[in-house]
Amino acid sequence: MNVFEIEQLKKIPKVELHVHIEGTLEPDLLLKLAERNGVSLPYNDLESVREVFRFQDLQGFLNVYYSASKCLQKEQDFYDLTLAYLRKCKEENIVYTEIFFDPQTHIARGIALEEVMAGIFAARSEAEARFGVRSQVIPCFERDRPVGDSLPLLKTMERIGGIVGIGLDSAERDNPPSIFNETFAYARSIGLHCVAHAGEEGPPEYIAEALDILAVERIDHGVRAMESTALMQRLQVEQTPLTVCPFSNVALGVFEDLACHNVGKLLEAGLKVTINSDDPAYFGGYLTANIVDTWNALGLSLEQVIQVQRNAIDATFIDAAEKYRMHRALEESLFV
Ligand SMILES: [Zn+2]
Repeated sequence: MNVFEIEQLKKIPKVELHVHIEGTLEPDLLLKLAERNGVSLPYNDLESVREVFRFQDLQGFLNVYYSASKCLQKEQDFYDLTLAYLRKCKEENIVYTEIFFDPQTHIARGIALEEVMAGIFAARSEAEARFGVRSQVIPCFERDRPVGDSLPLLKTMERIGGIVGIGLDSAERDNPPSIFNETFAYARSIGLHCVAHAGEEGPPEYIAEALDILAVERIDHGVRAMESTALMQRLQVEQTPLTVCPFSNVALGVFEDLACHNVGKLLEAGLKVTINSDDPAYFGGYLTANIVDTWNALGLSLEQVIQVQRNAIDATFIDAAEKYRMHRALEESLFV
C-alpha cells in the first residue's frame, strides 16, 4: 500500500462492530485503576504488564483478560475505560461502533450491573456530544459459565434498558451455541438483535448452529467457515456479515501470521466481511492498524478495503435512513 492510500484510509469514515470494551484496557489505564481501587496485581510497571500481555492461545488470553478486569470496579472506571476507547475512535475516524461488554465478568466479582452500564452509557453520551462518535452497546454472555444464569441476567438488563442486542463470547471449545437457545429466543421476542462468536476456535458446525438455532444476524469471527463448502455457499447467498478480527486471530494462534489469514479469500468468495479489532489493547492495535497491516500482508486492493467498510455499514444495527447517510459520507470521503 502506498502512502496516499494510508492517508486515504485515515480519511474514510469507519465502523467497528466487534470490540470488547474490557479488551481496550490499555496498560497505563490498568495500572491507574489498580492504584485507584487498591487492587494488587502481580505486575506493577508498564514493562511487566506488557510481558504478561503475551500469551499463546484463547485460554491463555482469557486468564490475563479476566485478571486485568478485576481493576474495573466503579462506575467511574467503566466511564474512563469506555471514553478512552471512544476517544481513540475519534482519532481514527471511527464514526460509529457497537461495543461488547461482559456483564458476568463483573457481576461475578460483586460489581453491580447498574454501575457497569451507567459508566458505559455516560461515556457513550459524552463521546457523541464531544467527539461526534456514535455507539451502541451489546452485552455478551460468557458461554463457559452456567447456561442457566443467562436468561435471568437478560431480564435484569431488559429492566435496566439501553442495549441494542446480545452476543455470546468466551471459550468456544465444547460450548456450542445451541445451549443458549432459550435466552436468544427471549432476546428476539423483546426486539433485541442477536450475534454470536462462532467458528474462531470452534468448528464450522457452531456457525451453522448459531444461524439455525440462535437466529443470529451476524457471526463474530467465522473464519473457520472455509472448512465447509456448503456453509461458504450459504454465507455468500444469505450475505450474513462476519466480523473478522485479523490481529486477534494471529495473537491467539488461529492463523500463524497475517500473510496466512483467509480474510482475502472470504472476500473473494463474496462473503460480507468486516474487519475489527476485538481486544485491541491485547492484540497489538486498533481498527486502522488491523486494516492497514492486513491489507499489506495480503496485498488487498483499495477497492476491497472500501468494500469492507461498505459491508460494515450494512451490518450495523441502525435504521435504514442512518445507514444511507453513512454510505453517502463514505462515498463522498473517497473523492476528497
Ligand atoms: Zn470477540
